[in-house]
Amino acid sequence: MAACKHLDQIRDVTPSADGCEDCLKIGATWVHLRLCMECGHVGCCDSSPNKHATKHFHRTKHPIIRSFEPGEDWLWDYTTEQLLEGPVLAPPHHHPLDQPVPGPAGRVPPGWERQLH
Ligand SMILES: [Zn+2]
Ligand SMILES: [Zn+2]
Repeated sequence: MAACKHLDQIRDVTPSADGCEDCLKIGATWVHLRLCMECGHVGCCDSSPNKHATKHFHRTKHPIIRSFEPGEDWLWDYTTEQLLEGPVLAPPHHHPLDQPVPGPAGRVPPGWERQLH
C-alpha cells in the first residue's frame, strides 16, 4: 500500500477539549467528534449541525483528522478524501466515556436525530 505523503505529518497531539471546542463556545451540539492530527483541535463531524472539523480544515488546511470516538481508530485525509491507516497513536484515543453521543451532556435538544444532515 502506497504511503500517503501526509502520514509523516501525523504526530501525537494533545486534544484541545473533551468535546467540539467550537460547539462548546457557541452553545451548540455535536454528534461525533474528530481530532485534528496537526494541532489537536477537536471538532464535530459532518453529521453534526456545524461541521466544525471540516470548517477547521478549510480554515487551517490541516489535512488529517482522526476519529475521536471510542473504538474507532481511522484517520481521514481531507486533501485526498481517503481513509488512512495510521500509526498507533498515544492516548487519549477518544473523548471521555461519560461524554454522551451526541453531546454535550444536557444540551442535546429533543428530536436531534431529525436535524442530522
Ligand atoms: Zn462543533
Ligand atoms: Zn488543526
